[in-house]
Amino acid sequence: MHKLPDLPYPFDALEPYIDKKTMELHHGKHHAGYVEKLNLALENNKELLEKDIEGILRDIKSVPEEIRQTVVNSGGGHANHSFFWKIMGPKPKAGPEGKLFEALKSEFGSFDNFQEKFTEKALGVFGAGWAFLIINKDNKLELTRQSFQNSPLLYGNMPILGIDVWEHAYYLKYQNRRADYVKAWWNVVNWQEVEKNYEGV
Ligand code: MN
Repeated sequence: MHKLPDLPYPFDALEPYIDKKTMELHHGKHHAGYVEKLNLALENNKELLEKDIEGILRDIKSVPEEIRQTVVNSGGGHANHSFFWKIMGPKPKAGPEGKLFEALKSEFGSFDNFQEKFTEKALGVFGAGWAFLIINKDNKLELTRQSFQNSPLLYGNMPILGIDVWEHAYYLKYQNRRADYVKAWWNVVNWQEVEKNYEGV
């Protein structure tokens, strides 16, 4: 069975940028709901119940057609949120260092410019979705938008950093002000984890 991972910090750890109530609902209801629906869709498929979700998404064509879209939606939701909790944290360092910093500079000109472009991507998602920094198939850093819970893994891309811009991620505190949420979110990006994601590829 697929399992809801524990949040790697307390629900109120990202205050004041992301509030406790939002984190409780986001993890305990939304993410938990994806895991539940995924397990339900896979209930007669022992192999996929035991395979890790990232591996399933990378090889989505091997998922039987009648449950494939459910796995894209709920499995994508499970993978995206598991990833999202880890790339955030309380009191993170101010920015990336080392190889990731150098790569961002060479791809985007400067860290500030990367941040600006990523923010633009996040604000440009129409409706529910995500913005990601990925390593693409050519092994280059790239910014992408994904609708709904579509995971970059479906397309052979590796997510390095990502932001959930579904309204459930910010509505309680920020209502319709997505720009304020994105601006605040930069304060809780766990750069150490993002560096690991980059260097692990
Ligand atoms: Mn979400």
